[in-house]
Amino acid sequence: MRKHIVAGNWKMNNTLEEGKKLTSEIVNMVRDEVMDDTIAVLCTPYVHLTTARDLIGDAANIFLGAQNCSQHESGAYTGEISVGMLSSVGVSYVILGHSERREYFAESDDLLAAKVDQVLSTGLTPIFCCGESLEIREKDEQYEFVTQQITNSLFHLSQENFSKIVIAYEPIWAIGTGKTATSDQAQEMHHKLRTHIAGKYGQQIADETSILYGGSAKPSNAPELFAQPDVDGGLIGGASLKSRDFVDIIKSF
Ligand code: PEP
Repeated sequence: MRKHIVAGNWKMNNTLEEGKKLTSEIVNMVRDEVMDDTIAVLCTPYVHLTTARDLIGDAANIFLGAQNCSQHESGAYTGEISVGMLSSVGVSYVILGHSERREYFAESDDLLAAKVDQVLSTGLTPIFCCGESLEIREKDEQYEFVTQQITNSLFHLSQENFSKIVIAYEPIWAIGTGKTATSDQAQEMHHKLRTHIAGKYGQQIADETSILYGGSAKPSNAPELFAQPDVDGGLIGGASLKSRDFVDIIKSF
């Protein structure tokens, strides 16, 4: 059975006090209300990680995530954060290749392949983001584009390492725009991605890979998205900053 995962990407939001309040509310609500084994991941800014870790405590189905990491192991890279550092503060998941990092920080497929390797070498789980722009979708080239992103950054991995990857399909035109992909559009892309993975790694690995949807997901549209056979959860931006909305999304399976 594939894992159901709902990861919140706080992006560059929240002071430490605001983050404490949000994390505490989420931890309490998940403890009281989430009865299945859906995994919640809080991808906070770096400065929140240790505080969030302490508030999460031993909650069985809540994990800590980061939004980025260095491709280097250690050394003279001022301002960077290594995967070893993330691991040492209790991080389990690392978002890689978010469209904002690809666009504003010029992260290429090759750089992301190196980051994926770093994350895996430390035993953490990459949440690898892919997705097309509106321009590409309007040309109906989205499947070629997104499968190529996967090939370029992930298909150098061994079968064993690939099986540790979580994928997040995030159409760029749906991120932070209020414009959600329809459940049919999400299902179609997720199915194409799974078929693409099966072509390289075999059907069993493909069937076990969690593929999350991201892009203006909210409590009102999550149930329909999560009901699709190839949608295994969500990467949630805006709605992850409101505890009630985030937990209602987690409860949407
Ligand atoms: C995201 O940034 O990963 C995201 C999906 O954002 P939003 O939910 O706000 O569209």
